[in-house]
Amino acid sequence: MTVVCRTIKELQAYLKKTKDQREGSIGLVPTMGALHAGHMALVQAAKKECNPIILTIFVNPTQFGPGEDYQKYPRELEKDLNLSKEAGVGCVFAPDLKEIYPAQEEESSTFVEETSRSRELCGKFRPGHFRGVATVVIKLFHMIQPQKAFFGLKDLQQFYVLDKVVKDLNLDIELRGVPTVREADGLAMSSRNQYLSIEEREKAPYFYQCLKKYDVEKGNLAEIKNLLESKGFQVQYLQLVSLPDLRPVHQIHSKGALAGAVFLGSVRLIDNILLERKI
Ligand code: AMP
Repeated sequence: MTVVCRTIKELQAYLKKTKDQREGSIGLVPTMGALHAGHMALVQAAKKECNPIILTIFVNPTQFGPGEDYQKYPRELEKDLNLSKEAGVGCVFAPDLKEIYPAQEEESSTFVEETSRSRELCGKFRPGHFRGVATVVIKLFHMIQPQKAFFGLKDLQQFYVLDKVVKDLNLDIELRGVPTVREADGLAMSSRNQYLSIEEREKAPYFYQCLKKYDVEKGNLAEIKNLLESKGFQVQYLQLVSLPDLRPVHQIHSKGALAGAVFLGSVRLIDNILLERKI
């Protein structure tokens, strides 16, 4: 059975009620809803290690910049609840705005900000985004007190920023990064893919196909960028970084990633590939 909680009070009642019969660790899967197979892979990974699984659905305004898609972000609660039930989620926490940001009228003035890993990649183009993400995730950690939390590596920077926040704040929570789930043609699944027109959707898989052409020995980054542009993508950034620190590098020395953000028309897509080089 999946319990649906709309308030922190209901959530806390659920946590209290299940405390004695709890078999394992609480596993948290934070999402903004419009669930797809990528989100469900997080639930499946969580189920292997945790019981109960708490999936949260909250479109977090503080991680959207001015002019971004907060208002039109897809909201599909009924469908999300059905998918959660089918997947065996113990509790869906789907709070209202005022529940998470009670100081709404006067606006919150307390935030969590990571100041190193969050500055690169998307951080350069979406100021305040990771501050919003870190703030809402810490709020959820505080409300739910999970032992483990599951995030997708599709949002590579998000994962490594949160990893640093957890370490810096001495939180006793294990983060798990789950590999990117893709459509059959390679496009990384995303709730935002539904904004793509038919023509854009046809082109979109080239993004991943081009990233995969990167060769750590050749270091052919410029070639990949040209290829993307020739396919009609407007490249916002394409950057090699080392992991876990997300430092920009010209060459991968051991563990790293090639991460990018591109536009197809007005739709922004992000993706990355993990790289390893044995020297
Ligand atoms: P979102 O609802 O877009 O905020 O995503 C919620 C969580 O699902 C985040 O940890 C994402 O990284 C993860 N996620 C979204 N899309 C995918 C995907 N295609 N594969 C794996 N994880 C994903």
